[in-house]
Amino acid sequence: MPTHDAGPITERVVVVGMGLIGGSIALAARATGAATTVVALDVSEAVMARVRELGLADVATGDMAEALRGAGLVILCVPVGASAAAAAALAPHLEPGTVLSDTGSVKSSVVTQVMPQLPAGVTFVPAHPIAGTEFSGPDAGLASLFQARWCILTPIDGTTPSAIALLDAFWSRLGARVAVMTPEHHDRVLALTSHLPHMIAYNIVGTATDFGDETQSEVIRFSASGFRDFTRIAASDPVMWRDIFLHNREAVLEMFERFSTDLSQLEGWIRDGDGDALLAFFTRTRAIRRSIVAQGQDTAMPDFGRRQPPAG
Ligand code: NAP
Repeated sequence: MPTHDAGPITERVVVVGMGLIGGSIALAARATGAATTVVALDVSEAVMARVRELGLADVATGDMAEALRGAGLVILCVPVGASAAAAAALAPHLEPGTVLSDTGSVKSSVVTQVMPQLPAGVTFVPAHPIAGTEFSGPDAGLASLFQARWCILTPIDGTTPSAIALLDAFWSRLGARVAVMTPEHHDRVLALTSHLPHMIAYNIVGTATDFGDETQSEVIRFSASGFRDFTRIAASDPVMWRDIFLHNREAVLEMFERFSTDLSQLEGWIRDGDGDALLAFFTRTRAIRRSIVAQGQDTAMPDFGRRQPPAG
């Protein structure tokens, strides 16, 4: 992880919403010296109390005026559906020259929600770090969460080059690799790489819970044969995922339609006993896995490097 030696990227960063992502940004910013002062802000008093106990930030306050005074960078880390409310609450206290950013998993909707709230002189740089776990809340924060992960910036009309450069430097300091694209392109790419897989995982795990008790207990017992990996994804935060599906509806439905067509084709090959088609298809999918490992986006270790349970 880069260290303090390089000097701060900004004097004061304010993290709004101290859950998994907010907590991780605060920890990583402190660990790398990305900001001289890391300020934590959350609507929940219980969350703020936990932030203080865990020492996630230099300053933890529910007072917006105090938190935002002199802020160089403010990062919204709230559920996508709360973006408008959070931006509206911050707006009266944002000073001209402050750069506002976010971490929402959907970009077009966040832009639509935040832009009308933005005061003059404040630049918005929508962003999405492609990193996470199935855990949520301040206890889930990890300083190393963004190491070697992508962070996508989706500038819009009015986003200044200096604001983009600030976010680029900030996320690079946290260990991330930075990419830039439009919000619309982001939403289509993520609908395929993240939202569709979550939809499938939620559905598969949901199907298993519809079976009777005996089958369910066998599903759990023999889960290592594939089901277990879907349960990790399907254990993701319910509020976050409700918001993602509702706020990226068009792109998710488009990808789902393509998925359904391909699934019907697969079903047809199995029904027709077309082994050649199945073999060609599975060979192609295996190559994708190998490319992901080759690009350092996952480990090549068997079973994702999991410790094996004791034998017996
Ligand atoms: P999280 O752990 O549930 O944390 C969100 C926090 O924001 C909670 O403490 C919540 O408080 C607080 N909050 C809600 N509304 C607020 C408001 N109006 N003002 C201030 N705080 C507010 O969620 P997360 O996983 O960190 O996700 C945060 C954002 O990052 C989401 O937009 C998500 O799409 C995005 N993201 C998530 C992941 C991931 O894997 N989890 C990855 C990349 C990006 P309460 O709990 O009291 O409501």
